[in-house]
Amino acid sequence: MDIKTWESNKVTISVDYDKCNGNGACVGICPTSVYELQEGKTVPVNIDECVECCACIEGCPEMAIEHSSC
Ligand code: SF4
Ligand code: SF4
Repeated sequence: MDIKTWESNKVTISVDYDKCNGNGACVGICPTSVYELQEGKTVPVNIDECVECCACIEGCPEMAIEHSSC
């Protein structure tokens, strides 16, 4: 299991790197550019900008992301 977790003062986001295939769907779909790809995996580098829309959860084909608000 390779699950990493990030927290802001509003939300918690976890990414399962065993599932993430690096396709970048979450990067493209997030309206506030929370994610960026680093070495082929997504990282929520701008987690403070999250507006809790859940698009990343719905857009990930691998169900690799967990979000405290979704
Ligand atoms: S959409 Fe899912 S599989 Fe694709 S980069 Fe994001 S977390 Fe990884
Ligand atoms: S919940 Fe919405 S705003 Fe937050 S990281 Fe996911 S797509 Fe971006």
